[in-house]
Amino acid sequence: MFEQITRGSRVKSPWLLHYDCSSCNGCDIEVIACLTPVYDIERFGIINVGNPLHADILLVTGAVNHRNRKVLENLYEQMPHPRVVIAIGSCALSGGVFREAYNVVGGVDKVIAVDVYVPGCAAKPEAIIDGVLLGLEKFKKLSNNWRGVGGIFREAETNES
Ligand code: SF4
Repeated sequence: MFEQITRGSRVKSPWLLHYDCSSCNGCDIEVIACLTPVYDIERFGIINVGNPLHADILLVTGAVNHRNRKVLENLYEQMPHPRVVIAIGSCALSGGVFREAYNVVGGVDKVIAVDVYVPGCAAKPEAIIDGVLLGLEKFKKLSNNWRGVGGIFREAETNES
């Protein structure tokens, strides 16, 4: 019962964490625009939070560099299962204009698994919202395969061998 309520509430109102790896702030401004009344991402029940322990969806902007890759890994590891990662903008997809810089590792998927890629420089708010909704679909599917045990979600056992 408690598990059903927890799963249902996470699917109906997923919490989102935004991490700026090293973006020029162009994509971050577009992410923030999604939170304003003009684009109003909260109409989908989505809330922006600052704590990875509470987050269901991780939005990443900017290219990963050698300095922040550990931070990104730490944030990802702290998020409860299931979790979805969305890379926003060319820099987060591949390193973008910074990809050949000496300190750049590359796109987000060089460090953690990415579920949805939103292209653009900067990515438009409409595209970001589309990406978040795609991520939400994936989150719903993943949620069906996870079972809560003592407040921790783990992958459901299947009969497949
Ligand atoms: S994709 Fe473009 S707008 Fe976005 S962080 Fe990179 S350079 Fe800036």
